[in-house]
Amino acid sequence: MAGEPQADCLFCKIVAGDVPATVVRESATTVAFRDINPQAPTHVLVIPRVHYPDAGTLAVAEPAIAADVLTEAAAVAAQDKTDASGYRIVFNTGAGAGQTVFHAHAHVLGGRGLNWPPG
Ligand code: 5GP
Ligand code: ZN
Repeated sequence: MAGEPQADCLFCKIVAGDVPATVVRESATTVAFRDINPQAPTHVLVIPRVHYPDAGTLAVAEPAIAADVLTEAAAVAAQDKTDASGYRIVFNTGAGAGQTVFHAHAHVLGGRGLNWPPG
């Protein structure tokens, strides 16, 4: 069922505590943890506890939780003090855009110069 944990999903396993992660923030609806392969000094993933394959699907089904993901992404940036210098929130959607884990997640990137447009 949509929103239910998926047995084969890495990020559902992180939510459940079955796969370790460096958690930096938690809320009732989200978990934020450092990316295992950081692309910037701050590179944190913010995920909903519920399973949806991407951010758009999450937003349609659970708009309040999608908003929580954004709120927590901003809180991560403030916690890592990247909010003054600027940071980027990215939702890769689809394999063609580089999505490799099909559980909705925001990348929070900061702590270095960020080119626009991204590659
Ligand atoms: P995507 O490519 O789907 O937008 O982002 C998936 C992200 O998850 C990648 O940046 C990748 O480095 C990260 N990632 C993959 N496996 C793990 C893991 O086991 N632990 C953590 N913390 N991050 C992971
Ligand atoms: Zn999942």
